[in-house]
Amino acid sequence: MASKNLSERDKKHLWHPLTQHKLHPEMLGIIKAKGAMLYDERGKGYIDGIASWYTCMYGHCNDYILEKVYGQMQELDQVVFSGFTHEPAVRLSEELIKILPPNQEKLFFSDNGSTATEIGIKMALQYHFNQGKKRPVLLAFEGGFHGDTFGAMSVSGLSVYNGPFEEFFIDVERIPVPTPHTIHALLEQLETRLQKQDIAGFVYEPLVQGAAAMQMHGAEELAQLLELMGKYRVLTIADEVMTGFGKTGTNFASDQITSKPDIMCLSKALTAGLVPMGVTSCTREVYDAFYSDEISKGLFHGHTYTANPLACTAALAGITLLQSDEIQSSIRRIMASHRQFDAEIKDHPKVAATRQTGIIYALDLKVEMERYGQLRDRLFEHFMDQGVFLRPLGNTIYVLAPYVISEEQLKRIYGSIKMMLEKL
Ligand SMILES: *Cc1c(COP(=O)(O)O)cnc(C)c1O
Repeated sequence: MASKNLSERDKKHLWHPLTQHKLHPEMLGIIKAKGAMLYDERGKGYIDGIASWYTCMYGHCNDYILEKVYGQMQELDQVVFSGFTHEPAVRLSEELIKILPPNQEKLFFSDNGSTATEIGIKMALQYHFNQGKKRPVLLAFEGGFHGDTFGAMSVSGLSVYNGPFEEFFIDVERIPVPTPHTIHALLEQLETRLQKQDIAGFVYEPLVQGAAAMQMHGAEELAQLLELMGKYRVLTIADEVMTGFGKTGTNFASDQITSKPDIMCLSKALTAGLVPMGVTSCTREVYDAFYSDEISKGLFHGHTYTANPLACTAALAGITLLQSDEIQSSIRRIMASHRQFDAEIKDHPKVAATRQTGIIYALDLKVEMERYGQLRDRLFEHFMDQGVFLRPLGNTIYVLAPYVISEEQLKRIYGSIKMMLEKL
């Protein structure tokens, strides 16, 4: 049994991510997870309504994944991936390439979503550099989120949290996310800007901007932007760290967009929530710009745990599950349930707006701004009391549950949201 009083012992030495400890000193001790459920040290259960930050889509401690990884542990745990290769990485490359958009041909491994994006950025910058072209600028969407390392922070939307680092950022210009009304003006402006030929790449979250409170945009306008980038040899970098592996209703959000990215960044659900790993994939053309007799034209980036065999095995097991009839029908079931729930609440006087892409559902609350500050904490506490783990972003509540969530568990999430709307 796990020891009790985790939250007291935690305070002594631990420093948590994205936390102002003076304002939020209490951490909840979690001792067990199974399927869509988390359990705290007092034994209370919570439905994991955000799949632990969009990772464990096939359920926590999934028996099939555990068995595969346990098997791999007996054979090969870790080995250098420079000069060596191994079966889990080779198999994963074969299986992942089969489900990625058809123009993706090469995979570069790293450890998390930030590094996957960081590598995508470095690929884009060096792609042009290797061809003797000076293109030091990157483009990104306003309000995007791409991670917390320097390159990834640079291409993310400006935020008060990044203030101390801004003067060290790489050169990034931000463009608004297009709507059917703004796309024409945006394309015109952009075409003028791109003629300077100094932009190396465009980083974007396709269809859904996760950290921007699940803001959603249309595939058609995005495709038009991407086509224009292609015309000026700006490499397009799709950050699918959040959207990847079924969440938008297709394997990848990019599957729904006619123009395919040059580079893709994957993590989170890639390893099904078991262990961390990132992958940056690219086209043959990007890879070829690094393929040379000159050693310095190679991509000299590497992490110690690159392509860890256990992580690759977890990813392979996850891909097998993603393609199973069971998971595919769960995805359709959750999409339909969300639509039904939406019809019930979208006209509620406390609901300002709702949106859905695949199994991602979000609703904005109609609240006065001065109550905004404590609202997030109040909402969070309400849901936790109800045994539902949701992390509201500002005045947005979103649901991104594991595919294995039962209809009854989904109803409990919806019920807790309806109750909150009445309490507001
Ligand atoms: C979470 C996330 C990242 C960063 O991934 P980490 O593993 O937390 O470093 C990057 N991009 C997007 C879209 C994300 O959702």
